[in-house]
Amino acid sequence: LKIVTLKETEAGERRVALVPDVAARLVKLGCGLALEAGAGVASSYLDSAYKDVSIETSQRDMVASADIVLAVNPPSLSAISAMKPGAILISLFYGRNHPELVKALRDGKISCFAMEQVPRISRAQAMDVLSSQATLAGYYAVLLGTTHMQKILPMMTTAVGSLRAAQVLVMGLGVAGLQALATAHRLGAVTEGYDVRPETKEEAHSLGAKFVDTGVDATGQGGYARELTEQEKAKVRAVLTDHIARADLIVTTAAVPGRRAPRLIDAEQIAKMKQGAVIVDMAAEGGGNCEGTKAGETVQVGPAMIVGPVNLPSCLAEQASELYAKNVLNLLQQIIKDGKISLDMTDEVIAKTLLTHDGKITNDGVRQVVE
Ligand code: NAD
Repeated sequence: LKIVTLKETEAGERRVALVPDVAARLVKLGCGLALEAGAGVASSYLDSAYKDVSIETSQRDMVASADIVLAVNPPSLSAISAMKPGAILISLFYGRNHPELVKALRDGKISCFAMEQVPRISRAQAMDVLSSQATLAGYYAVLLGTTHMQKILPMMTTAVGSLRAAQVLVMGLGVAGLQALATAHRLGAVTEGYDVRPETKEEAHSLGAKFVDTGVDATGQGGYARELTEQEKAKVRAVLTDHIARADLIVTTAAVPGRRAPRLIDAEQIAKMKQGAVIVDMAAEGGGNCEGTKAGETVQVGPAMIVGPVNLPSCLAEQASELYAKNVLNLLQQIIKDGKISLDMTDEVIAKTLLTHDGKITNDGVRQVVE
């Protein structure tokens, strides 16, 4: 069984889908491995670190001979076109955003596992790329925020008096938000968290943070949030405005599946913030939680600086790649039986993660958009 790994081409992408430790595990499973030359360099894994892996310079030849292709982002049309019918592709895909590539997968009879579709169930946690990457992103968002602040996070006693601890507010307490709270707490900040799912209150407390209770419960399906009604938005806003005004650093992470990122902070609230306050809007790529956020930019809006980072996991590429590759290995262990590919279509994880298979688009939502 030949498994090959592509070099990422997206601007700003530093991650790689295979790391040397995971390669060694796959070699032990009896797989033949190939890596596009230099694929791991940006995440600190030199070609020489991959033992028993063939380093290839022709992507086309490498891909044409592969049974399984690994990538972080959707590969190019030319890479997909070079794959043999029946081969497997494993990558993040977000099919709705790439209709032409999805058609190429369908027409080429490629079985594509879109890693963002792994169901959020306990059994699939070890394959959950969204969680592994969000964990690192949440940590990094706080560090990024501190580099734009003119204050430190912890209380500090000096010969000329004490410096007060900074106030950090995290809005949206999913995987990334909880990690942001934990990181700010470790660095000595006074922390507050807010979410529309009430069960996050206990999680915030366990991380040493206060919970801002707005009295709104917007728990949706599958443990995700739903969109708020206009009435609920007004109620939330009334409670949050003071907390926003008091914060030195705010990290926003709110997302609702399939929708534009909800607006949590508006221009009027920003105008009331402290001079020098910083907002890191982790939802920047999905439209932003904050009025004025620009994806990929840092902008000054009145008293506050708004940072709109894109692809935060890539900033921690070495470990983001390590976790990604381990998530992929756990999926591979589900689909490789006795050295052969065996797809059990009755398995919920396999069925839900597959985007295309056997000449069909198997994800209903993506099929409706693409066909
Ligand atoms: P996400 O990225 O979809 O959203 C981030 C957070 O934003 C969520 O906590 C959500 O409640 C919150 N949010 C949405 N609208 C908001 C608003 N208007 N105001 C404030 N907050 C708002 O979330 P995620 O990190 O992917 O996690 C979502 C859920 O999935 C959580 O319950 C998490 O525990 C669960 N989960 C389960 C598994 C598993 O069982 N394998 C794995 C990962 C996550």
